[in-house]
Amino acid sequence: MSRRIDEVIIHCSATRRTWYADESLNAQVAEIRRWHVVENKWNDIGYHWIIGRCGKVLAGRAESVVGAHCKGRNARSMGICLIGGHGSSERDAFQDNFTAEQERALVDLIESIRSRHGASIKVRGHNEFANKACPGFNVKRWLNNTPPRTSPLQSKTVRASATQVAAAAGTGATAVAALDGTAQIVALACAAVVALAALWIMRERLRKWAGGDH
Ligand SMILES: [Zn+2]
Repeated sequence: MSRRIDEVIIHCSATRRTWYADESLNAQVAEIRRWHVVENKWNDIGYHWIIGRCGKVLAGRAESVVGAHCKGRNARSMGICLIGGHGSSERDAFQDNFTAEQERALVDLIESIRSRHGASIKVRGHNEFANKACPGFNVKRWLNNTPPRTSPLQSKTVRASATQVAAAAGTGATAVAALDGTAQIVALACAAVVALAALWIMRERLRKWAGGDH
């Protein structure tokens, strides 16, 4: 049975950049699980997902099971832990403590959670609910400046300008916008070729006209 999820809460492991650096993410997750199970006496690792410094993502606790990561907010949330963040502040920027690979993985993971559990799921930082630095960056500010997702055509700005290009080339802009991924790229490439051809023909016509050959 799936739980109702209202928010994703981001955390960090508060480990140094060099922590277990020669070990796999599996080994790092095993160590965090040991802290939570052996030291905290919890049933399992507290987080649902863990993102390694290389951008690899490993599952922790099953998504269907309530986590143990943010006091008072566990029942309807999903906990994500970024490896790193030692010595970070809640005012830092994401890139001050984490890698670009982690950022891409985090954006994709949030997208995947929203697609499976609800598009309106909010993204928060642990430091919004506790007097802690965790996850070691200002999540609100980061959300307002999120990098584009894997496909640039999913960005609203790119989509808008692509639609304009398609319209200018006389292609059905709505039809292009309705397409997805590769189909969009192909359609836009065709539109671009049509536009270039039109420009070339116009130039040739102008040249002939200028030369009195009309
Ligand atoms: Zn935390």
